[in-house]
Amino acid sequence: MSDSDSYEINASAPNHPEARYAGDHLVIDKTEWVPGKHPDPHRRREGQTEYLERYLRCIECGVEVLSERDLPVECGDSR
Ligand SMILES: [Zn+2]
Repeated sequence: MSDSDSYEINASAPNHPEARYAGDHLVIDKTEWVPGKHPDPHRRREGQTEYLERYLRCIECGVEVLSERDLPVECGDSR
């Protein structure tokens, strides 16, 4: 009998597997329920009290924007 193989669990999974680069930023898609009615009239519903907003968050510098176009050019604060 051989020694039992000890399988080491390689915990190298990134914290944010869905993160992707957008310019200098490493962003993840976020969604958040926002109270109120949707800003787009086409997506409002009668009696709507909250809507699901999608936005992007950079996990490097923490900036949050609604679309990639709104990202600052450089990632991170200029300290
Ligand atoms: Zn950034």
